Amino acid sequence: MEKRPFITLEQAQRIIEDVPTPFHIYDEKGIRENARRLQKAFAWNKGFREYFAVKATPNPYLMQILQQEGCGMDCSSYTELMLCEACGITGHDIMFSSNVTPAEDMKKAYDMGAIINLDDFTHVEFLERVAGIPETICCRYNPGGEFALNNAIMDTPGEAKYGMTKQQMKDAWRILMQKGAKRFGIHAFLASNTVANEYYPKLARILFELAVELHRETGAEVAFVNLSGGVGVPYRPDQQATDIMAVGEGVRQAFEEVMVPAGLGDVAIYTELGRFMLAPYGHLIATVLHQKHIYKEYVGLDACAANLMRPAMYGAYHHITVLGKEDAPCDHRYDVTGGLCENNDKFAIDRMLPAIEIGDIVAIHDTGAHGFSMGYNYNGKLRSAEVLLKEDGTHQLIRRAETPEDYFATFDFSPFFAK
Ligand SMILES: *Cc1c(COP(=O)(O)O)cnc(C)c1O
Repeated sequence: MEKRPFITLEQAQRIIEDVPTPFHIYDEKGIRENARRLQKAFAWNKGFREYFAVKATPNPYLMQILQQEGCGMDCSSYTELMLCEACGITGHDIMFSSNVTPAEDMKKAYDMGAIINLDDFTHVEFLERVAGIPETICCRYNPGGEFALNNAIMDTPGEAKYGMTKQQMKDAWRILMQKGAKRFGIHAFLASNTVANEYYPKLARILFELAVELHRETGAEVAFVNLSGGVGVPYRPDQQATDIMAVGEGVRQAFEEVMVPAGLGDVAIYTELGRFMLAPYGHLIATVLHQKHIYKEYVGLDACAANLMRPAMYGAYHHITVLGKEDAPCDHRYDVTGGLCENNDKFAIDRMLPAIEIGDIVAIHDTGAHGFSMGYNYNGKLRSAEVLLKEDGTHQLIRRAETPEDYFATFDFSPFFAK
């Protein structure tokens, strides 16, 4: 599928007069339409709810858009809980899916009335000790072994640090019931960034079968099954996008076959998608600062891995469009780099692109999730601004760029002034 940016060169130039590059920009229209498709795909399930994984793109404006589209928020830390609180989001509008959880984080989630998803059997006792046992509680499952789809191994849960074994799930539910829990949820995250339409249906079937077994053996009320995140997006032009309607239909079939006959037809389906909700609706916009011609051809941007870590960290592919040259032939081979003193600071290696000139503006695609949020300050680089492209075509600064003052705020210069 051809990948076209959601802004034109003219639009980008207008925004740059106001907000210098680099910045991340988000497409409100795309975000809303996609959220509505997800709701439609799961409309067959009465209690369906998406809890947006805040870690993917923690920004109040984006959280508000998703909230308006019916989403709750999935948090994993104290600060993310505080961010929700500051946005007026509390109670069961929050799922708290953490691991290696500090006591203060657990207490904060409990105090805010969030739905707590316990990552480990020992967290039953831990939660009771630091806060208390709420009436609604979720436990995270890890089936171990390998997770395969159509004979292809997608991931290895047996090597993953998350979740509980089946026996631990049963024991946790029994103890939680004795301690006053009344409504239970099951959660698992078995493969990341999977564009296969079969991922959620396969995961759902595993969790539905477990729900039936736990319900039969413990008598506990199953309130929801949380399919978590992991639905992917086509980063590469040759990848097929997830067909979310087919995904919803696949989950429905598993639900009809496993849950309904067991009398669990009222159980709600929850999701905790991050990437699927926002990744395609964000671009990192950057300006070409330099070109160099040594053993290879290099294009240097004013953005770097501190603004988008995925290529440096995972060798992840992010498509690049030179704005205004959308239809020019891609007959030049470049490494597109940032300015970190790290040779892995490359957005693309041996990428075929149109002839590039200094001053060209590039859009790096699919940065709407796990983009800005994975940013860091290496080499004294500052976090960029975030901009919202609104449905009416105007733009709004939704997070200013960091300034040196922000970077300096946590230093202590007193040794230099002590007499
Ligand atoms: C990261 C994460 C998500 C979101 O994952 P995506 O791949 O962005 O969909 C959801 N739930 C949990 C517990 C996570 O850690």
